Amino acid sequence: MTDIKSMTQGEITDALKAMGESAFRGKQIFSWLHKGVRSFDEMSNLPKSLREKLSAEYFITSPEIARKQVSALDGTMKYLWRLSDGNCIETVLMSYHHGNTVCISSQVGCRMGCKFCASTVAGKVRDLRPSEMIDQVLFTQLDSGLEISNIVLMGIGEPLDNRDTVLRFLELVNHPDGLNIGMRHISLSTCGIVPGIDALAKEDLQLTLSVSLHAPDSETRSRIMPVNKAYDVEDLFAACHRYFKTTGRRISFEYAMIDGVNDNDWQADLLARKIHGMPGHVNLIPLNDVVESELKPSKRVAAFQKRLESHGITATVRRSLGGDIDASCGQLRRKEMEKQGGEEI
Ligand code: SAH
Repeated sequence: MTDIKSMTQGEITDALKAMGESAFRGKQIFSWLHKGVRSFDEMSNLPKSLREKLSAEYFITSPEIARKQVSALDGTMKYLWRLSDGNCIETVLMSYHHGNTVCISSQVGCRMGCKFCASTVAGKVRDLRPSEMIDQVLFTQLDSGLEISNIVLMGIGEPLDNRDTVLRFLELVNHPDGLNIGMRHISLSTCGIVPGIDALAKEDLQLTLSVSLHAPDSETRSRIMPVNKAYDVEDLFAACHRYFKTTGRRISFEYAMIDGVNDNDWQADLLARKIHGMPGHVNLIPLNDVVESELKPSKRVAAFQKRLESHGITATVRRSLGGDIDASCGQLRRKEMEKQGGEEI
């Protein structure tokens, strides 16, 4: 059985032609899939015989809601989806004045091992498929009744550790007969996989690249982010400069403020020097307290921001949403796993 929602419109059309069907069926089927039908029977403008032929060869992914939480503070919604194999993934829906943003996962778990992150505690279980990434946007939109205008690939998983899937997802979600979300409304966040950044630069997409930096010096970064041992902060900045040169797109640097670890003035000074020469923007994130970690939130967020600004670097502090519903970074999935005795569900 083939996962039809992971196929491009061109691939579906070719498959239909090979079955002796007319090419226009490809467009019809693609549109239905990206409207969120859960079976071929719902494709009411296809002949029954074709629907039967398709069901014999293809399946349509459709996740179930395992849990849904709505923040009483700001309306942020968090979905825990159960996939066809029983694994769970998280999607968060945030409403801003400029529109509704979904934060989606790219893998079940994560193998990057960042010390402050709840998503990686139990490692990676598997990569998501393109359809499972589309479904997060699609079914969040359908269930909430809110039109999604922006997507951030900042949920569970490392997008550039599942690069081919992510590139295909971008092509699908961008399609005019599908969800039709423009690249400028999409952000991709990476912990800094250098070959992945170079490959993404070659695609020359209009999306926003976010780099989870969290420290400007190698010693600190290696302490909190094992990926730094493979792709050192110097290599990472070189890749960011190359990325900017190729795409002309401004990079956003994510920086979670950790008490006594990365919040010193000298680190702000070093960070400003490293960004120099490209229009980078620093997004300071108040650290979310993760029970499994001994790292604590910094009290110097405002001072660090001022210090960066004194060097002419734009720095913003990320507004925290959904604080009452474990809306951040793998926390809901962890809870669900604990409930199941720590086993994958
Ligand atoms: N793997 C990708 C995307 C997922 S993480 C990446 O590393 O960018 C999304 C963002 O949340 C990253 O910037 C990550 O470093 C940050 N993050 C993880 N745990 C956090 C925590 N406890 N507090 C604040 N930010 C955190």
